[in-house]
Amino acid sequence: MHHKITGIAASSGVAIAKAFIHLEPNVDIKKTSITDVSTEIEKLTAALEKSKEELRAIKDQTEASMGADKAEIFAAHLLVLDDPELVDGIKGKIENEQMNAEYALKEVSDMFVSMFESMDNEYMKERAADIRDVSKRVLGHLIGVETGSLATIAEETVIIAEDLTPSDTAQLNKQFVKGFATDIGGRTSHSAIMSRSLEIPAVVGTKEVTEKIQHGDMVIVDGIEGIVIVNPTEEEVKAYEEKRAAFEKQKQEWAKLVGEPSTTKDGAHVELAANIGTPKDVDGVLANGGEGIGLYRTEFLYMDRDQLPTEEEQFEAYKEVVQRMDGKPVVIRTLDIGGDKELSYLQLPKELNPFLGFRAIRLCLEKQDIFRTQLRALLRASTYGNLKVMFPMIATLEELRQAKAIMQEEKDKLLSEGVDVSDSIEVGIMVEIPSTAVAANLFAKEVDFFSIGTNDLIQYTMAADRMNERVSYLYQPYHPAILRLVDMVIKAAHSEGKWVGMCGEMAGDEVAIPLLLGLGLDEFSMSATSILPARSQLLKLSKEELKPFAQKALMHDTAEEVEQLVKKTYLK
Ligand code: PEP
Ligand code: MG
Repeated sequence: MHHKITGIAASSGVAIAKAFIHLEPNVDIKKTSITDVSTEIEKLTAALEKSKEELRAIKDQTEASMGADKAEIFAAHLLVLDDPELVDGIKGKIENEQMNAEYALKEVSDMFVSMFESMDNEYMKERAADIRDVSKRVLGHLIGVETGSLATIAEETVIIAEDLTPSDTAQLNKQFVKGFATDIGGRTSHSAIMSRSLEIPAVVGTKEVTEKIQHGDMVIVDGIEGIVIVNPTEEEVKAYEEKRAAFEKQKQEWAKLVGEPSTTKDGAHVELAANIGTPKDVDGVLANGGEGIGLYRTEFLYMDRDQLPTEEEQFEAYKEVVQRMDGKPVVIRTLDIGGDKELSYLQLPKELNPFLGFRAIRLCLEKQDIFRTQLRALLRASTYGNLKVMFPMIATLEELRQAKAIMQEEKDKLLSEGVDVSDSIEVGIMVEIPSTAVAANLFAKEVDFFSIGTNDLIQYTMAADRMNERVSYLYQPYHPAILRLVDMVIKAAHSEGKWVGMCGEMAGDEVAIPLLLGLGLDEFSMSATSILPARSQLLKLSKEELKPFAQKALMHDTAEEVEQLVKKTYLK
């Protein structure tokens, strides 16, 4: 059926391809009692067979496209399915306890998973992960949900999901995944941020793509306007192919600005930097003419694995980034885990309000072994380029002082061990908690720089969960309250002679840019793909003219009014 679904434009571009439904069958599995044991066993056998077939195909495909070692994992999964202890265990439960196959599968696999996980042996812990993955696949077949692995998609597709976790997005192969659309999430949810860094067109927060789209449907994802069209007409396909071509052409125009400075019409210079998640992202930063890295989110080093990264691993990653940026500034943020970013192996208790909970610097100050390891890696990497350290989620001066003191202790230790550390590392904080923005004058005396994290600053100021699409209308970067906070932070920093950047999504937003320029922001850090459009926009703006304009905007009544004012005066 033809449908037009609207959502939030998360990553620019147009994709036209077949839908691949990616659903997590983490549905609540209920125990029911069955009467027909043999039908239940048949159901299980069929699901096991289907899973095996699927795994064999994925294994061959992976071997051909990515090599034998990448395919090994699927051989291990196949072994799990042939393991009599597991299979007989499930059948035994169905036969002896008259239990439905789904629940029997869950009970037996949970039992094996916790047994293997509790062993102090890496190999066994990996087996636990294998069992979890495989039972998810079998469960998918039992309840009739597609669970193919994202990593092994080998034809052009558009992914349709409730949400994509950071580990899902990390597996996407750009060659085949042309776009994605999700039910939940907002412009600043991590799936949206990842889609921009991967340069994959995406629409998030549609509320209904998984409901309205079937596996294999033809889908158009318009990441410019935030529209998804299901089973488009021929005319629609033609129109969107034209739109895609126009976007590509626009990109070529922007590409001419790669080596140019970021200067306004009246000769003011600002820094256009990029946000990255992994060292691999540096390619995109350089290709898009980034003048630095304003935010390196180090969480990804800690995710998608089953233990903490070692000091050495971290050192290599940080060193690679600063070296490749070749003297350009690189702001590396210390671990910001918690909120929507979990670490399964840390086993933190579930919280009712994770965004207001034990996360980021709060966690690091308590689990100091984790924090100290990271700081040592950062300090060691500091001699390879222009590395700056930034602490996330700072709410009080005590937190800042404590974090700085720990960093100093690690520095002293390294120096006494004879390890080289740069003596000019700038230390800054994210301003993303309203208390810190309001009291920025106090913090400004004790930091070298600020970076305003508007994704969280807006969420906390407006009391609107950034992951909840129902309240996404409250993500209002142009709300006078937000603009006033930004203004306060910039003035506080400048009066202490410190620089201010912004690394929230607002920094790359074409409506916000004239305002931020007028408020005096020094550094704008954004998705790499936003840098060139921003540079081309700056060329047409005058900073002097924007100063009074921005001050006037602070006095408007609503975000809507400010937006209209900017659009009317400075866009198009
Ligand atoms: C922010 O909060 O604006 C920010 C840049 O950090 P993150 O999106 O990683 O929370
Ligand atoms: Mg944040």
